[in-house]
Amino acid sequence: MKKNDVKIEIEKLRSEINRHDYMYYVLAQPEIEDIQYDRLMKRLEELEAQFPELITPDSPSQRVSGEPTKVFPVVQHRRPMMSLSNTYSETEIRDFDRRVRSLLEKDESFEYVCELKIDGLAISLIYQDGLLVRAATRGDGEQGDDVTNNVKTIRSVPLRLETNQTDLKNIEVRGEIYFYRADLLPLNEERVKNEEVPFANPRNAAAGSLKLQDARQTARRPLKMFCYWIEPSVEKHPITDHLTGLELLKSLKFPVNHNYTLCQNVEEVIQFWRNWQQKRNSVPYDIDGVVAKVNSYQQQERLGSTAKSPRWAIAFKFKTEQKETVLKEIVWQVGRTGVVTPVAILQPVKLMGSTVSRATLHNVEELLRLDVRIGDTVLLEKGGDVIPKVVHVNLDKRTPGSMAYQPPTSCPACQSPLVKEADEVALRCENVACPEQVSRRIEHFASRRAMDIEGLGDKIVDLLINNRLINDYGDIYRLRKEDIAALERMGEKSASNLINAIQKSKQKPLEKVIFALGIPFVGEGAARLLAKNFLSIHELAHSSEENLASIDGIGEKTAQSVLHFFENKSNQDVLKKLEDAGVTLAQKTLPQENSSQIFKDKTFVFTGTLEKYSRDEAAEQVRRLGGQASSSVSQNTDYVVVGSSAGSKYQKALDLGIKILTEKEFISLLESGKNT
Ligand SMILES: [Zn+2]
Repeated sequence: MKKNDVKIEIEKLRSEINRHDYMYYVLAQPEIEDIQYDRLMKRLEELEAQFPELITPDSPSQRVSGEPTKVFPVVQHRRPMMSLSNTYSETEIRDFDRRVRSLLEKDESFEYVCELKIDGLAISLIYQDGLLVRAATRGDGEQGDDVTNNVKTIRSVPLRLETNQTDLKNIEVRGEIYFYRADLLPLNEERVKNEEVPFANPRNAAAGSLKLQDARQTARRPLKMFCYWIEPSVEKHPITDHLTGLELLKSLKFPVNHNYTLCQNVEEVIQFWRNWQQKRNSVPYDIDGVVAKVNSYQQQERLGSTAKSPRWAIAFKFKTEQKETVLKEIVWQVGRTGVVTPVAILQPVKLMGSTVSRATLHNVEELLRLDVRIGDTVLLEKGGDVIPKVVHVNLDKRTPGSMAYQPPTSCPACQSPLVKEADEVALRCENVACPEQVSRRIEHFASRRAMDIEGLGDKIVDLLINNRLINDYGDIYRLRKEDIAALERMGEKSASNLINAIQKSKQKPLEKVIFALGIPFVGEGAARLLAKNFLSIHELAHSSEENLASIDGIGEKTAQSVLHFFENKSNQDVLKKLEDAGVTLAQKTLPQENSSQIFKDKTFVFTGTLEKYSRDEAAEQVRRLGGQASSSVSQNTDYVVVGSSAGSKYQKALDLGIKILTEKEFISLLESGKNT
């Protein structure tokens, strides 16, 4: 056979196989029997084996690559993969709608597109020159894991795009990878046989399958994908709204869930949600709600996003599921402020797709209100990511002669007597040296939002306490590198990293230190307020209750708690250790009250003509709030503000996936900074 003839036959086979994959996996309308399909594939593999130089990466034979992945490389998303804000109630969806309307022009009309919220894993696909070159998980939204080899095994995902339009060959597409409910059972049976832990739900199965090191194993898992987003490159092709985006995805042969609809108003959104709540089990995959998105891209862009999620979309979750099970035991957990919380240990039960064996009972008062007893049959409730809770006791199923539950009178960790203040619902262990409290307090002190000591998580804290290296968070600053390096599973390298992180934390500003102290009722907000009113911890500790309570936002209870904290002898000892170590306990000036540093470390680039400001004025506004302005767009740019007739900088920002702001969005950001 001549090589050229082979090449022609190979290409014909590939396009045949791709077409059948599409018919079978995307449209669910197979045209041929499996055996005929297998014959085509076998012929292709034979020819490619004879002429390996004709193998291309997009050949259907290359869906499964032989090389196992040892570590999934971490990759940066071109633009953040944001998560959607959630709601569970009709009131909240109406609030969302009101917010959208208030952010758009008065009486401006807009539409929503409603889709099913597939309970799977968000994935980004990147095509270059029409070839699938990268697939990555959402990760933390900024960076995800490169799982290209495993995603290539999903037959509904095109390896090559069939289009002649150059701009459509270089796109990013996003969607959800998921698992059919029915596919979970045989997989779990096999796992149990192999003495592996069964997957709790289809989403876990999808996640586990994507993280297999050997793509040949992944190929045996029936993973599926629905795509719902295509990068809007507005200038090049005419997609102006989400609906057109979905149609375009379909025309490019991506799998798109067809259960979407255009809604003219929020009432239609609610109707769609109600319908699907009723028939959520009529589809073979798990859905946990519906997603409503403002249809127009131009309006989406104007609505912008918060730090966490877009303002133009919302996940409208289905109502919670409830189930009965038996309560076997009640255990008590001690928190960092000494609050002791009851946790129900349950007969494991399936609830919303996962196995639940623990649930919160909130506090002792709730426990007594429920009159829950060991051996009772209780009603459990769970919604989405919410921690399962006990809502009700089924008295008809109560065992005769059962005894009312007696809450503990002493701390499970240190046996100190527990106290309950008259106006509090919680039981409290008042022993500041209680080992459980000590661990939780040190963890809090080191946590990201407090002193941000990287590497000092719960396991290390417990290790340090058990080895008697620390007794409180003041001791952290007395740790020596050799002490840490001598610990189990800690080497020289991690010891010196930890020491560096500890040293660095000494520079944290006063408001972080106040928060880190873990004073009851003093959260991040109260800590910030206190730092705005006192120059030092010393000044704060010697303040009066009247003085503290006169600060707007600080209540009487918080004021008392603050003073009580500093009067305590052991807290004074710990503070002395912080002082000796050189931790920030004072500041030269009070932080500016009227402008916050919301743009701290952020770089802005302005392009095009702004209406309200000259570029210099805009740059000055940015600097005033702690940011900087630059004249060129690079990887280090955080925001590009686009005025009218914007040029190449705008394009470059799009290419680099940099956050783009309209002038209106920029001004509202400025305003939010001034009002903080
Ligand atoms: Zn205790």
